[in-house]
Amino acid sequence: MSHSLQALDRAHHLHPFTDFKALGEEGSRIIERAEGVYIHDAEGNRLLDGMAGLWCVNLGYGRVELVTAATEQMRRLPYYNNFFKTTHPPAVRLAEKLCALAPAHLNHVFFTGSGSEANDTVLRMVRRYWTLKGKPEKHWVIGRENGYHGSTVAGMSLGGMAPMHDQGGPCVPGITHVRQPYWFGEGRFGDVRDQDPEAFGRQCAAAIEEKILELGEETVAAFIAEPVQGAGGAIMPPASYWPAVKEVLSRYDILLVVDEVICGFGRLGEWFGSVHYDLAPDLMPIAKGLSSGYLPIGGVLVGDRVADTLIQEGGEFFHGFTYSGHPVCAAVALKNLELMEAEGVVERVRDELGPYLARRWATLADHPLVGEARSLGLMGALELIDPASGERFDKALAAGNLCRDISFRRGLVMRSVGDTMIIAPPLVITREQIDDLVTLAREALDETARCLVP
Ligand code: PLP
Repeated sequence: MSHSLQALDRAHHLHPFTDFKALGEEGSRIIERAEGVYIHDAEGNRLLDGMAGLWCVNLGYGRVELVTAATEQMRRLPYYNNFFKTTHPPAVRLAEKLCALAPAHLNHVFFTGSGSEANDTVLRMVRRYWTLKGKPEKHWVIGRENGYHGSTVAGMSLGGMAPMHDQGGPCVPGITHVRQPYWFGEGRFGDVRDQDPEAFGRQCAAAIEEKILELGEETVAAFIAEPVQGAGGAIMPPASYWPAVKEVLSRYDILLVVDEVICGFGRLGEWFGSVHYDLAPDLMPIAKGLSSGYLPIGGVLVGDRVADTLIQEGGEFFHGFTYSGHPVCAAVALKNLELMEAEGVVERVRDELGPYLARRWATLADHPLVGEARSLGLMGALELIDPASGERFDKALAAGNLCRDISFRRGLVMRSVGDTMIIAPPLVITREQIDDLVTLAREALDETARCLVP
């Protein structure tokens, strides 16, 4: 059965971010069901899902309350739009809940179907805002190298993933990128080996100011970044970085967009990564953990400064999606947030599970293949290095992908970004399951070492 599905998959199904030809004879792993923190494939294997799906199944799999919320809403009102001066209870209640959970100055939300659409919305709002303020010359948006803000044309343009730009044709004009605060990558292997991390953090913030001056200080509309760069490699910035960035942006009156698609909804031990880093974003794109991935929904939380202008001076905003605030998705998202609140999920990540993972994950730093083991909340990364040289492995060895494949085979979903191994498990993981995760990660490292190190 799974073989015929694999054949059909190969024949007809184009997967996202996949070299489909490279799937070869092995084919795709067919995931059939899941519960808690485990997924089960068609061959009868159980895997600990160290990636919460794709950084999104925060409440874990199999929550019947979410299924009930979906089916009840399906029966009552499966669809209606928010365009014709109409709305429906789930969208309104979800908007209210989000604004209550978000920092106090964020009092409005614009719904989308995904994180990518949320970032398209961000770009349109930012430019609309400055036009309404009589400053249309403020149109540049500065993002970061290796940042990820989605796969739509605007999303990939705001992001700083070079291979996406190369394949995507011309990017949206008026978007540029600055260096990321990747201490391990740039401090250990790059051109700043003599600095300490905090000096490096300040230097990365200074790069934003240099870019502003290069573009013209009157022309920059916004800076967009993830609190912790997720898909770029779970890159936690040095402590000096965000305070220095905030200072630069306020000096030039530039809007701050904090992309919370991964960091939002408890991943870093607060409802939003912006709270952890004490940011006060003007715009906050969200998705993923908003519904624990059970249904697709995203949005942009809008701060008072931008919302007041759009509402008071903007007239009609010619922007929106058929599924903006979809009632079934909104009902599930609302129930997801209510459950997270009632069960104290975010507080447990902050006070118990995050610190526990940090202690256990750090034990992997003694492995010969590991150059750094870092984590924050329930997000962690391992930097693979060649023990013989202390440098990165030769790229041709694809050490990260090898380690990922071994890890899957041994029963742990761990993602690779180059030679950085990443985990971001469901937030309902237990201490015992964290112990298992760390044990499986060590076993995967051992087997990877046996394959790569003579
Ligand atoms: N922003 C960030 C930070 C993301 O990590 C992602 C997806 O991984 C997106 C935006 C895009 O979200 P989506 O895949 O829902 O379009």
